[in-house]
Amino acid sequence: MQFKRILLKLSGESLMGDQGYGIDSQRLNDYAEQIAEIAGMGIQIGIVIGGGNIFRGLSGAAKGFDRYKGDQMGMMATVINSLALASALEHLSVKTRVLTAIRMEPVGEFYSKPKAMEALSNNEVIIMSAGTGNPYFTTDTGSSLRGIEIEADVMLKGTRVDGVYTADPEKDPTATKYDSISFDEVYNKGLKIMDLTATAMCMENKLPVLVFNMDVKGNLKKVLTGQKIGTLVHP
Ligand code: UDP
Repeated sequence: MQFKRILLKLSGESLMGDQGYGIDSQRLNDYAEQIAEIAGMGIQIGIVIGGGNIFRGLSGAAKGFDRYKGDQMGMMATVINSLALASALEHLSVKTRVLTAIRMEPVGEFYSKPKAMEALSNNEVIIMSAGTGNPYFTTDTGSSLRGIEIEADVMLKGTRVDGVYTADPEKDPTATKYDSISFDEVYNKGLKIMDLTATAMCMENKLPVLVFNMDVKGNLKKVLTGQKIGTLVHP
C-alpha cells in the first residue's frame, strides 16, 4: 500500500453542505462512511477539521470582533465539528479519539504527540481539534503541523474541487488540472492550495499534499488504493 499513515484535512466549510451554515448531517455521514471504509483497510488515520462553517476569526474581525477572541471562537468551532465527526464515526463502530490543542477535558484529551501515536498504533482514528491552539493560524497550518508531528506519509486535503488547476476553472474555461506539481512551482506560480504558512511547513518538512475532491463518495478509498485522482504536491 502507498500510504500507511495519513493526515486527512477536512474543510469546515464543506461540512455545511448546501445549508450555508452549520453541519449538514448528510455530508457529515458521507464523510464518516468514507473514513470508516479506509479505517477498515488498516490505515492509520489522523484528522484535522476546519471551522469555517461556524466561525472564522478573520471574517469576525471584519465585523468588528477582536481578532484574538475571534480566532479562539474559530478554534472552538473546529472542536464542535470534531465532536460531530467523532460521533458519526462511532455510530459506524469506528473507534475515535478527539484530542484538543487547548485544554478542555472532558470534551477531549489534551493533545500530545505520544498520546496521538499511541492511539494510532491501537488503530484508533484521532481527530486533532482546535487547530494549533494559537490565534493567527489556520487549520491548514494546524494540519501541516500535526501531519509532520505524527510522521504522516501524506496530507490528504479534501476539498470541493478535484485538484490543483493552472487557473480557477470556474473563471477560466481553458484551465487544466495538474496530476502532480512541486511546492516550488506552486509558490512561483502563486497557486492557492493552502495559506503560505501551511505550504512552507509542508515544503520544509517534506510532507507531500494530495488535493482531491472529498465530496464525491468513494474518492478517499480511491486515493488510498492508488487510483490516480487529485493532484499530488510534492517536495
Ligand atoms: N484558527 C486559529 N488557529 C488555528 C486554527 C484555526 O485561530 O491554529 C481559527 C481561525 O480563526 C480560523 C478558524 O479557526 O478562521 C477556523 O479555521 P479555518 O478557517 O482554517 O477553517 P476551514 O477554512 O478549514 O473551514
